[in-house]
Amino acid sequence: MKVIKIEQFFPLPRVRLVKITTDTGIVGWGETTLEGKPRSTMTAVDEIGDYLIGKDPLRIEHHWQHIYRSAFFRGGNILMSALSGIDQALWDIAGKYYEVPTYKLLGDAVRDRIRVYAHWGIGSTTDKGKEQARQRLDMLQKKGGYKAFKSGPGGKWRAHEPPAFIDAFVERAYLMREWVGPDVELAFDFHGKMTPALAIEVCHEIKGMRPMFVEEPVPQENIDALKLVSDHVTFPIATGERFLTRWGFRDVFEKQAAAYLQPDISHTGGITELKKISNMAEVYYMHMAPHCAIGPVAFSASMQVDAVVPNFLIQEQVDKCLGAGLLKEDWMVNDGHIELPTKPGLGFEINEEIAEQDRGIYEEELGGEFYHESDGSVADW
Ligand SMILES: [Mg+2]
Repeated sequence: MKVIKIEQFFPLPRVRLVKITTDTGIVGWGETTLEGKPRSTMTAVDEIGDYLIGKDPLRIEHHWQHIYRSAFFRGGNILMSALSGIDQALWDIAGKYYEVPTYKLLGDAVRDRIRVYAHWGIGSTTDKGKEQARQRLDMLQKKGGYKAFKSGPGGKWRAHEPPAFIDAFVERAYLMREWVGPDVELAFDFHGKMTPALAIEVCHEIKGMRPMFVEEPVPQENIDALKLVSDHVTFPIATGERFLTRWGFRDVFEKQAAAYLQPDISHTGGITELKKISNMAEVYYMHMAPHCAIGPVAFSASMQVDAVVPNFLIQEQVDKCLGAGLLKEDWMVNDGHIELPTKPGLGFEINEEIAEQDRGIYEEELGGEFYHESDGSVADW
């Protein structure tokens, strides 16, 4: 079997797909979405594509090593997102070639179904805000039986904020706990925009409502700062959606700087690398809560790894992960879980008329501009 064609499609906002076609007629799909850098990643896939044409798609580890190491400069968001999508597509081909779900080739499942969480929160305590939050919570609980939700404090945070600003978030967190009761998990994403001191202060204020975790309490670059937060907070700290490869996580492991890791399968190095990171995490008693805030191809690939990782905790999904018209059948959530995929490869049949469209670059994908209103300085997203 040989790779004969590599194509890219941009069917939806924040959904970039790569399709690899082989001379047997078997095709594989992967997701290369990199928020803020869609054109750069597309070019990286084109460059890698020249290497893959004519090659045996089943030599996945070999191709991963070549793409990562051979051009002297390793890693980085753009190369890794391109490699991640290509790796997913190669695993899709491998599963279809051997006529098994991809997870069967990774050691087979260690669980019967995959626990997922949805995005839900009380964004505002106005009557309208609460009504909207109530409706979405009812819908998620009725339709999917979700027992875990994530939201954020949102907004722009300076190095410190006055009590009223902090309390507005803290009060919403406690109200959410009141609404869902003690049998449901609630997590909060700080989006890496607080200082260690502020993150610790805010975490102390919400600890009484028993969060499942706080995600990215501080920016990504300094693992000692993350460790400082973890050491001062009594509930689990999670991080990792912006970390790439095992080497990117190495400091987190060695400093025991977080409890849960959230690599994104479309950035961190695909199925191949997510499994290796997960296996390393097991050594440090860290659990996996893989990030997925893009499309259903990445989500499907992530579930293949979730199936085989003993130290898996929970999988993120945003609503469009479940199908978004790209998959012929949506993933169904019942009792907060998705049954193990049964179809060969990544487990979906793609809706080609929708998937094979190129709708160009959406403005929202370029990241936007964020400034503090008070003084015009740059704020974090
Ligand atoms: Mg996040």
